[in-house]
Amino acid sequence: MAYQAEYIWIDGTEPTPLLRSKTKILADGKTPPVWGFDGSSTNQAPGDKSDCMLKPVFTCPDPIRGRDNILVLCEVDNARDGKPHPTNTRAACVRASKKYAQHEMIFGIEQEYTLLKLDGTPLGFPDGGFPAPQGPYYCGVGAGRVVARELIEEHTQACIDAGLMIEGTNAEVMPGQWEFQIGAADALTVSDHLTVARWLLHRIAEDFNIVVSLAAKPQKGDWNGAGAHTNFSTKAMRNDTNMKAIKAACEAIGKKVDLHIKNYGHDIESRLTGAHETAPYNRFSYGVSNRGASIRIPWQVELAGKGYAEDRRPNANVDPYVVTRLIIETVCGAAER
Ligand code: ADP
Ligand code: MN
Ligand code: MN
Ligand code: MN
Repeated sequence: MAYQAEYIWIDGTEPTPLLRSKTKILADGKTPPVWGFDGSSTNQAPGDKSDCMLKPVFTCPDPIRGRDNILVLCEVDNARDGKPHPTNTRAACVRASKKYAQHEMIFGIEQEYTLLKLDGTPLGFPDGGFPAPQGPYYCGVGAGRVVARELIEEHTQACIDAGLMIEGTNAEVMPGQWEFQIGAADALTVSDHLTVARWLLHRIAEDFNIVVSLAAKPQKGDWNGAGAHTNFSTKAMRNDTNMKAIKAACEAIGKKVDLHIKNYGHDIESRLTGAHETAPYNRFSYGVSNRGASIRIPWQVELAGKGYAEDRRPNANVDPYVVTRLIIETVCGAAER
């Protein structure tokens, strides 16, 4: 029987790209071919040369449609010459992953996000007012403390059914804010799975009339922002003794503060203020157990002398292909010097 393939790609919206998708019906047994779309409607091409190419790079079962239907994550290429489109950040991540393959870097990304009503106010905020201050919401249970549990449950099961490497979920510090984690795996696997997990979240929330926001600071004032803590390790860090490789990785990243911050998502200055479990965006630091540091080394890692580190700076709206590529280039590049 014919089946449906949902082609998913990242568009050219600025300052933060959006996800797009469309459906192709395929004959039984046919693998999803290269396809195209109108780039003039996604900020990816001018009207007179509007065609862009969709190149399938990752497929998984479609947990929403079920049966034999699939999701097809695509890279965007120029129709003209087949080269990666300027918005295709995955291509550069593929190159860096190949170049530094011997370091066997793996990542785990914690995706925080904020649920909004259609009018743009966070879910859980009373009409025209504010909820009680932060405190009871993080990992909370019970009405008045957490919202939209039904949506979170559905999304989590959908990620599992799609075969994505989802690791866990938790309610966050601000009402209406949640988190899920994807990993730990190589840069491309984590980024592909995270992109599909983001799409599933938007898609499922659509049925609840809830808006998913990846904004870095969706609510001004004394409310936590939303991040995408990026946990990373090289083979050397995992086989370390006395944290030598872990410290060297942190030092290397500390030498490229501007480059990383510039690419860690729109509006990072509003989020990384030094308050709300963040370090100021323009001052780099790393430390054990320190949630006020740019990079945190978990206490178990210090105890073992080996393991991984957590770059706490990336925004919820970060491009996973960009943050993983930068960490690969900075950490592995320094290790080879
Ligand atoms: P916390 O909220 O305390 O920062 P989480 O449990 O939300 O921690 O996330 C921990 C993350 O660390 C997960 O995404 C996991 O994949 C990642 N991680 C664990 N071990 C490694 C490792 N060796 N290399 C890279 N990432 C790792
Ligand atoms: Mn977490
Ligand atoms: Mn969190
Ligand atoms: Mn974290």
